Amino acid sequence: MYTVLARKYRSQTFDDVIGQDPIAQTLKNAIKTGRVAHAYLFTGTRGIGKTTMARILAKSLNCLAVDAPTYEPCCKCESCTAVNLGDDIDVIEIDGASNNRVDEIRELRENAIYRPARSRFKIYIIDEVHMLTTSAFNALLKTLEEPPSHIKFIFATTEPNKVIATIQSRCQRFDFNSIRPGDIAEQLRSILKQEKIKFEDDLILPLAKMANGSMRDGLSLLDRLISTGVQPLTADLLQQYLGCPDSEKVYNLIAQVGDSNAAETLAAAEDLISTGLSEVQIVDAMIDYMRDLMVAKSAGSDSELLILTAEQRKRASELAEKFDTAALVYNITTLEKMRWSIKTTDTPRALLEALLLRFALSEHFMNVDDLLSQSQGKGGAPIKKKPAPESVSPKPQPSEPTPTKAQIKTDEASASSISTGRLSADNQEPNNEEQTPNHEPRPQSNSQRKNEILDDPAVKTVILGLDATITGIEED
Ligand SMILES: [Zn+2]
Repeated sequence: MYTVLARKYRSQTFDDVIGQDPIAQTLKNAIKTGRVAHAYLFTGTRGIGKTTMARILAKSLNCLAVDAPTYEPCCKCESCTAVNLGDDIDVIEIDGASNNRVDEIRELRENAIYRPARSRFKIYIIDEVHMLTTSAFNALLKTLEEPPSHIKFIFATTEPNKVIATIQSRCQRFDFNSIRPGDIAEQLRSILKQEKIKFEDDLILPLAKMANGSMRDGLSLLDRLISTGVQPLTADLLQQYLGCPDSEKVYNLIAQVGDSNAAETLAAAEDLISTGLSEVQIVDAMIDYMRDLMVAKSAGSDSELLILTAEQRKRASELAEKFDTAALVYNITTLEKMRWSIKTTDTPRALLEALLLRFALSEHFMNVDDLLSQSQGKGGAPIKKKPAPESVSPKPQPSEPTPTKAQIKTDEASASSISTGRLSADNQEPNNEEQTPNHEPRPQSNSQRKNEILDDPAVKTVILGLDATITGIEED
């Protein structure tokens, strides 16, 4: 029979525990020095090792291989093996979600007065303790106030704020961290090797990221991949079976946005939608990727904050060059705000496409306030964001030809860019395109053609409408 990986590879000792080292260390010290509290409260999101830690503590207190509590339980004696299976006679696991009535807690209290059957302590592990009813809490509190010395409580909860203060104050509390993707990745690799399952390494990081800080989720995703029976396990498989977006396609979409290619941006979005992804999944993937670009841009592509392979770091760093930091910040916050709208609208695709065009063509958008003041005859910023050649005169620096960036980083764009999404954080880059000294007529560039299209009043109306939509949402 197939044992799910999360059970098969559950940590057995304090030294095995992944991603919760300070807590494991503190509990080890407490056992070493004989200062074990009589009640603990373990908090944190699901799948990060609260129950595992509770069982290790229970084994340590009750291991029959030694005469006193030990921080290195044998994991072989009757007590240790029964605790591992969750059915030890003296270590009672209670699910607060299904045993939340006061009667059950009263029963617990009545049983608690009896000595443990074969071990040193009677240990109650109550999971999701916040689910207990108020009267059950009160009954429990009575036991906590005058606990017999042979009783230990270990409470676990995902919602510590719902655990009443009088219980909290009687417990030693440990807040468990989400597990870092790097730690999850390492464990996934190690398990695949032990299971002798062939895999390609570029599968591991995206899988670890999908686990969202939960080792259990990471392992259950891996279970699902293994159950396909396909080997070796690859990143393609991840996309096919677990709906993880094709990173190559997400990269392409963002590259097209960065290059201000309207048509190509829409085509890249279609490419993602045709793989079966929903609009919300695309927004999520974009937020994730833009976050990587933002980090690469501001903390460097070798930052530990990036969970990327060497190759991915290099590409992220190159792609980040197409944006400035403020634009990435704007894009991420706007995507996050629009996520809800896209989820609830009847026309998610249109909204997604409009948003993508908004990003791709951002330097052509004008501030709604400017538009209003223009329509009221008060002047305001010009509709055209691209400066006229004579209007900009930074010193030419022909040694740095950066035509793509020049499109983005013009002084004028930054002057009126609060709502454009292409804020220029630094304006040192000269705009070579506009500065050609001899003003020779040049062939019409893509961006000039695009300007002509965007000058069409009908197109402007649509774009400004979208701008107002986003601005409206921002005010919420
Ligand atoms: Zn033992």
